Amino acid sequence: VALDEGLKKTKEGFFSKLTKAIAGKDTVDSEVLDQVEDALIGADVGVETTVAIIKRIEERVAKDKYIGTAQLNGILQEEIMSMLTDAQSDEFATFDTPPGKHPYVILVVGVNGVGKTTTIGKLSYNFKKRGKNVLMGAADTFRAAAVDQLVIWSERVGVPIVKKEMGSDPSAVAFEAVETGISRGSDVVIIDTAGRLHNKAYLMDELSKIRRVISKKMPDAPHEVLLVLDGSTGQNAIEQAKHFTAATKVTAIAITKLDGTAKGGVVLAIANQFKIPVKYIGVGERMEDLQIFKKEEFVDSLFN
Ligand code: GDP
Repeated sequence: VALDEGLKKTKEGFFSKLTKAIAGKDTVDSEVLDQVEDALIGADVGVETTVAIIKRIEERVAKDKYIGTAQLNGILQEEIMSMLTDAQSDEFATFDTPPGKHPYVILVVGVNGVGKTTTIGKLSYNFKKRGKNVLMGAADTFRAAAVDQLVIWSERVGVPIVKKEMGSDPSAVAFEAVETGISRGSDVVIIDTAGRLHNKAYLMDELSKIRRVISKKMPDAPHEVLLVLDGSTGQNAIEQAKHFTAATKVTAIAITKLDGTAKGGVVLAIANQFKIPVKYIGVGERMEDLQIFKKEEFVDSLFN
């Protein structure tokens, strides 16, 4: 699914509200701004981020009396872009691996059902396509279905997988995956984890144990802790991000299911609120449907 196709509903919802807000008006007054605020919140941009965007526009309108509703669209686009640039470091994602990290170990975290397994499959596909040897680790040992699904993806993509019987210690699987990755000379090891959010202390303990055990085999690993969030759940995704960032050091975010949702604005909320690079976005169920998040492209798809 192409990005602008995927974001169509978000765009339509947002712009129909925006058009209504400025209909028959020339000046950007508080009433217009109120409605722009509603439109942003309605697109799941989140209160905090929306307030920040509105404040920036207010400041510009106050400074420049020539800004009218005709310029609003362009200004909004500029301010969203500049907010994203402030929030997201320049470190951008690739499907390559940085030098000196061999294997490059990615720990994938997130609540069940958000698209974690699918994202691991898509990532593996993309790394493999660029000539990387990928190894999967099935450390969600609590759900048989999780391991089964990952096995299906490993076969579909054609990459090996390390797994153990149900109920094994997840950190033991993670350790073995890294160990196997080292001995096989893998370029990338991608490890799935259980996303059981109902017990916060447990989640924290489990993830820190996995990290500790992995680093015994490879001191600087995991190199990436990728949090997967379901974009179609809007504010729920933000809540999950709060829990996971509190439980462990998350270094990158993937936002899935942006195809066909009207809640695509959540990407802006997450990017702004957590200041953690949003590296990947999921725009469909196929292995080709994972894209590297590019700020310009994303904002462009929302506005043009
Ligand atoms: P997990 O429990 O987090 O591992 O979730 P899965 O990877 O099994 O995905 C749950 C469901 O979401 C599956 O039906 C996937 O096909 C679907 N899914 C995952 N990513 C995307 C996406 O980007 N777009 C769409 N439309 N569906 C997705």
